[in-house]
Amino acid sequence: MDITLVKGDITAQAVDAVVNAANSSLMGGGGVDGAIHRRGGPDILRACRELRAGRYGRGLPTGLAVATTAGLLPARWVIHTVGPVHSAAEDRSHLLASCYRESLRVADELEAATVAFPAVSTGIYGWPMDDAARIAVAAVRAAERSVTSVTEVRFVLFDSAAYEVFAARLG
Ligand code: ADP
Repeated sequence: MDITLVKGDITAQAVDAVVNAANSSLMGGGGVDGAIHRRGGPDILRACRELRAGRYGRGLPTGLAVATTAGLLPARWVIHTVGPVHSAAEDRSHLLASCYRESLRVADELEAATVAFPAVSTGIYGWPMDDAARIAVAAVRAAERSVTSVTEVRFVLFDSAAYEVFAARLG
């Protein structure tokens, strides 16, 4: 499995699966979530509504992941994962690691080969970029052993600062 880095917009990635930094409601939001729904069109929200009407009636729990269509995006699936809100009082790193692990597990079930991740929880949810990069890279490397179909994990960072932080963590 290759781990690659791109500076850019996650909605422009031609990959099998794009990971969304969603919120528990699955009803859209700002940041990555907003961009994915804007560019992917209404089919994604429709699929999310169906999940809310069925299996995830109470919303998607933090740290879990679920796939829908990617609508008009140049991808086959969107994998929605809910990152933890950063807390200075409580260590929630395991939940952030779980987002990466669970998203890759779902990607593997779909037999996706290429998966693009944003820096989950580093926007509205306030996680410091360097710590988030450390957790993300470690979680992806740890998942490598259990994932069979995924050949590329691509971190897509929105700006140069985030890109440099991830590049330093990857070595
Ligand atoms: P969260 O709610 O999990 O913090 P956000 O979507 O607010 O998620 O932000 C996650 C990260 O994604 C932030 O670092 C933000 O700068 C970045 N980001 C925002 N829009 C995009 C985009 N279109 N493509 C890639 N990264 C993005």
